[in-house]
Amino acid sequence: MYKRRLTMYIETLKKELKNKKYRMTPQRELVLKVFIDNESKHLGAEDVYRILFSNKHTVSKATVYRTIELLVNFGLLRKIDFGDGIYRYELAKKEKMHHHFICNVCGKIYEIEEKHLNIIKKELLEQGFQFEDFDFKIYGICPKCSKKTKKKSSNNK
Ligand SMILES: [Zn+2]
Ligand SMILES: [Zn+2]
Repeated sequence: MYKRRLTMYIETLKKELKNKKYRMTPQRELVLKVFIDNESKHLGAEDVYRILFSNKHTVSKATVYRTIELLVNFGLLRKIDFGDGIYRYELAKKEKMHHHFICNVCGKIYEIEEKHLNIIKKELLEQGFQFEDFDFKIYGICPKCSKKTKKKSSNNK
């Protein structure tokens, strides 16, 4: 399964690169692989650099940044701004469309299934809005952190 998806992404990338007269380089393949290996995470460019470095790959930071931008331009990565000053990225074509919940306490990013937003989407469509792309972000406190704060406040009493 993993192998097949990897090959699929690499093939798409190769085709896109060829169309635009770029070359497939080992570095480009490595960066893409990091995202496939860390599918559930939302990595920043620094994270990608760190992962490659800890796996003993020598790719310069500048190359990592440039490659990520390239992959975004080719529609293989989705760039997300969670408002913390760092751009994060994820594979653009995940099996399931999803949105994000960002915890203001621990900073963890949760993925929200598409179905939870069906009501909002339906309402908007009925009002005549047409979607081209959408990306919902909800900020708040995650279940883990809200449990912790509840415990703390009850201990203080
Ligand atoms: Zn939290
Ligand atoms: Zn996500």
